[in-house]
Amino acid sequence: MSAPFNFSAGPAMLPKAVLQKAKEELTSWRGSGVSVMEISHRDPAFMQMAYKAEQDLRDLMKIPDNYQVLFMHGGGRGQFTAVAQNLAGPNDTVDYLNGGIWSDFAIREARKYVAKVNIIGSAIETDQGLAYPPQSEWQLSEDAAYVHYCPNETIGGLALHTIPEVSAPLVVDMSSNILSEPLAVEKFGVIYAGAQKNIGPSGFSIAIVRDDLLGRAQGTTSTIMDYTVQAKERSMYNTPNTWAWYLSGLVFEWIKELGGVTAMAERNNRKAKLLYDYIDNSAFYSNPIHPDFRSKMNVPFLLADAQLDGEFLRLAESEGLVGLKGHRWVGGMRASIYNAMPLEGVEALVSFMRDFEQKHT
Ligand SMILES: *Cc1c(COP(=O)(O)O)cnc(C)c1O
Repeated sequence: MSAPFNFSAGPAMLPKAVLQKAKEELTSWRGSGVSVMEISHRDPAFMQMAYKAEQDLRDLMKIPDNYQVLFMHGGGRGQFTAVAQNLAGPNDTVDYLNGGIWSDFAIREARKYVAKVNIIGSAIETDQGLAYPPQSEWQLSEDAAYVHYCPNETIGGLALHTIPEVSAPLVVDMSSNILSEPLAVEKFGVIYAGAQKNIGPSGFSIAIVRDDLLGRAQGTTSTIMDYTVQAKERSMYNTPNTWAWYLSGLVFEWIKELGGVTAMAERNNRKAKLLYDYIDNSAFYSNPIHPDFRSKMNVPFLLADAQLDGEFLRLAESEGLVGLKGHRWVGGMRASIYNAMPLEGVEALVSFMRDFEQKHT
């Protein structure tokens, strides 16, 4: 494994082995003489592949039988709409925890469809960095149709590592951390994720929906975004994104081969620890997040002298370390180190950062 290493936040790098397999099969899928993109989604071979992908995801995440696994359109933001329209009536109250930019977009979308969107708490600055207030301080509604949060704020790098204990159905945006570690699926009402960070191509999304939450969609819900319809049609109400489904299936197989989500978590913990330890022991770089709330997927960092940002990025790129520029709204740097990033990539980054620091101090 050698450079280039792609630290882009999303669309993000895919496992090399997956791309290689897709390349081999591109013009003739399973010896058919045509690509997987050119056959009917009702073709038995396609359906077999599609439902194997679903089963692999069920195995990987240990998804109980009383949950539907839906393969949908519209990425992460499509689910901001779908969640509000499918789970709450127009006059209902819903609860949202606000951890940053993605939470905020989800909140704004929910306001279009639901009368009362209650913010139960927001990220706070502490003397050790950005953090969440303890759950004892959250202002939960008594009658919320659901409670929504984002455990991994991809842009800010703030993570909530504990699952909230609430009585309303818990809805979670796992766009940037799904499959990165074991998860107690049964604690959630809905788990959703846009695909392009830890799963596959953009524009595709996965929603894991507990059965008792079906049948509640607002009458104006677009049919393709209706969980109940998609569950009944096994995600083939209309033509799904067949290429994205196929590629996601290859990623699930790859994760299984590497040992599943437990193995992913070990890999991810090592990568994150290596990078944070280096940043914490350096006066040249800093990370703005409280140590208890740091993302293991997206590591934002600042140079002590922001004037060096341009040079840092140019030099990094020339050494094959790409996609390190922070989000345009927050500046600085960000290393996204999802499942597909090998340890070697983070080692190469830390070694580059060390050289750069030495040169400038
Ligand atoms: C990227 C991202 C989104 C948005 O995904 P799109 O597919 O671009 O709509 C939503 N939530 C989180 C946490 C994300 O990281």
